[in-house]
Amino acid sequence: MKTETSLDDLIYFLSKLPGLGPRSAQRMVLFLLKKKETHFEPLKGLMDAVLSEMKVCPLCGNYDVITPCHICQDTKRSQTTLCVVPDVSDIWALERSPIYHGQYFALGGLLSALDGITPENLNIQKLKNRLDSSPIEEVIFALPLTVDGQTTLHYLIESLKTYPVKLTTLAHGMPVGGELDFQDEGTIQTAFKARTEL
Ligand SMILES: [Zn+2]
Repeated sequence: MKTETSLDDLIYFLSKLPGLGPRSAQRMVLFLLKKKETHFEPLKGLMDAVLSEMKVCPLCGNYDVITPCHICQDTKRSQTTLCVVPDVSDIWALERSPIYHGQYFALGGLLSALDGITPENLNIQKLKNRLDSSPIEEVIFALPLTVDGQTTLHYLIESLKTYPVKLTTLAHGMPVGGELDFQDEGTIQTAFKARTEL
C-alpha cells in the first residue's frame, strides 16, 4: 500500500492552485527545498501571517488586515458611487490604476447555469443591505461581457429596480478575471467615462 508523504500532499495541493499543474507544482517544491532559508522559511511564515491576519470586509468583501477595509474606511473617496465587480481580484485590479475613487462591492462570482451558481451563492442580499444602509446614489456594474456576466447583470437590474439609485454599466464591460494591467488603463478609463444608464 502506497503511503502519501507530506511532500506528495504539498505537491498535490499546489497543483490544484489556479495556473499551476502537477509539473509546475513539483518544480516549485523542488525550488523551495533547494532555497530553504531564503525562500521556504519566509514563505511559510508569510502563509501563517496572512492566514491569521486577513479578514473579509463586511461592507465590500475585500481582504484586509482591518475591518472595514482601508478602501471602505477612506473618507476621501466618494461615498455615493458603488462599483459592483465579480471578485476581489477585480477590486485590486481597478485600484492599481487611478481611475475610480468610489466604493466597491464584490459579488463573490457570477451566476452560471453551467457551474450551478445561483443567486443564493452570491452576495446579493449583502448588496441590498449595503444599499439600504449607505448614501449610495449610483451603482456601476463592472461585469464581463460574457454569458455569465450578462446573465448576472440582468438579474441584478431586476433585483435592484425598486431601489432609488441610478444603475449604470461600464461601456465595454470588464475584462474577464480582472486581468487588467497598465496597458488597459485607457480602455478602463473610457469604459468608466462612457458608462451607460440602464
Ligand atoms: Zn471594504
